Amino acid sequence: MTIFGIYGASGCGRGIVPFVSAALADHERAVFIDDADLPSTVNGYPCLKWPDFLELESSQRLVCLAIADGTVREKLDKKCIDAGVSYFSPRSNQTIIMDDVQIGEGAILSPYVTITSNIRIGRHFHANLYSYVEHDCIIGDFVTFAPGVKCNGNVVIEDFAYIGTGAILRQGTPGKPLVIGEGAVVGMGAVVTKSVSAGTTVVGNPARPLEKD
Ligand code: UDP
Repeated sequence: MTIFGIYGASGCGRGIVPFVSAALADHERAVFIDDADLPSTVNGYPCLKWPDFLELESSQRLVCLAIADGTVREKLDKKCIDAGVSYFSPRSNQTIIMDDVQIGEGAILSPYVTITSNIRIGRHFHANLYSYVEHDCIIGDFVTFAPGVKCNGNVVIEDFAYIGTGAILRQGTPGKPLVIGEGAVVGMGAVVTKSVSAGTTVVGNPARPLEKD
């Protein structure tokens, strides 16, 4: 028996378990893992605490980190590595991946995501519904795309960046990519025409740094 553990039984996890489950063979099953006190089943799937997951009888245990916050995924990544647990990479049948694409472990690619060609993506990437990544992009570790992100060609996105629903990232050029810095946040619907520095939140069209009160 191979057990596929989906870490996080909230919105993100419940949004991916149907396509994980649809792809299971007879000797495989899917469970949620969650550290909160949740019911023992969620949407019909067993929901276990981490220690119980580790004690399940199985020939192989694999995990994906189904939580949108990249810093939480990093924390749980350490926990999985310490426990010697490996990852799987949930991918919907409606996901399209073209040529020369390298994606690190644990990526979650939801329905209607398209990754075109000549693209490098780091570990534990999330691309939610209908997002795309165009040619020649380089994406770091623990990067999150909410639904409907349009990431055009020659864009560099550094670790932990979060791109909100429906945001549009203008295409860069081979010599001058548009860069979204480490830990930057792009607000929903933002139209990003210039690079965003690390740790900055931008909103609007054209996107500008969020003014804090
Ligand atoms: N969670 C967890 N361990 C952690 C952090 C979060 O099990 O260290 C769970 C949390 O209990 C919740 C889910 O992950 O059920 C995160 O849910 P949230 O709605 O915050 O995020 P989303 O599902 O939208 O990414």
